[in-house]
Amino acid sequence: MMNIINFAMSFGKGEDMSHFVVKLLSDDDGVDYDKDQQVWHYSGESTGDPCVLCSGEYFGEGQSNCKFIEKRVKRGGITCKKCLRIIKEYKAIKL
Ligand SMILES: [Zn+2]
Repeated sequence: MMNIINFAMSFGKGEDMSHFVVKLLSDDDGVDYDKDQQVWHYSGESTGDPCVLCSGEYFGEGQSNCKFIEKRVKRGGITCKKCLRIIKEYKAIKL
């Protein structure tokens, strides 16, 4: 839940309107994920550290030993169904 709240606060904050997506290649123990599990997640932030939006899983140096690829994209790039569902739910909120 913390992850979702932090995501909501950071969503759309980037002035250049780009965002990061991340693909996890292995778990924390270095065991490779199957190819069909390797989807592009929205790379959010929780308490200042990068994490996967849908699972809240941290990645990156000092956080986790998992292997990952991260990239900045202008738009789209997310193929994780759970991340897409969360983003759509936020976009649907009338402010
Ligand atoms: Zn995801």
